[in-house]
Amino acid sequence: MEERPFSDLSYELFLNEEKLMGSRCKACGTQYVPPRSICIDCYKSDMEWVEMKGKGRLAAFSCINIPPPFMIAQGYDRKNPYCTGVVELEEGARVDARIEGVDCAKPENINVGMALKVKYLHREEGEKKETYLAFEPA
Ligand SMILES: [Zn+2]
Repeated sequence: MEERPFSDLSYELFLNEEKLMGSRCKACGTQYVPPRSICIDCYKSDMEWVEMKGKGRLAAFSCINIPPPFMIAQGYDRKNPYCTGVVELEEGARVDARIEGVDCAKPENINVGMALKVKYLHREEGEKKETYLAFEPA
């Protein structure tokens, strides 16, 4: 693995490459997505990159009816809510992500514990390339 600092920027660059990367504490094995440079479990800073398989389960979710402006620009509003959630990865780390492929008009059909797989949402604005982390039902 090339040397990149354990930062949000590195994490975003990896997302552009469709890699879901986290950091693993070499001392205690705790994994973080997005990466942390210092372990909040044992306070060591001996980290290594690990690539996640991109599989997990829905740990919590909410349907957003009143989106922030950048999501309104993507076509979401009160009539077309979107879902965000916390995904517990197979590797154990928890990560915030968009949840796609679920119907926020029927939140009773969205189940905590449902199996999910990663999906990368690419957006380009001029020179700027951004990738949003999302998951969809597996
Ligand atoms: Zn640790």
